[in-house]
Amino acid sequence: MRIRVDPDRCQGHARCYALAPELFDVDDYGQSSVIGDGVVPPELEAKATLAIANCPEYAIEERSEE
Ligand code: SF4
Repeated sequence: MRIRVDPDRCQGHARCYALAPELFDVDDYGQSSVIGDGVVPPELEAKATLAIANCPEYAIEERSEE
């Protein structure tokens, strides 16, 4: 599983960071980005799915593995 945050959609609620701080980083403006290259280790996939479902802006996308 691999995820990314669409910077045009993210409105900086930091909800993703609250739910899964292992996967997201938030800058000084509250804009979120994924940590590293966005690859989610298997043990964090449930948290990633939770973050996707709870982003009010639908800004977190699951990407197909390349
Ligand atoms: S929950 Fe969504 S809108 Fe809020 S900071 Fe995370 S990606 Fe951005």
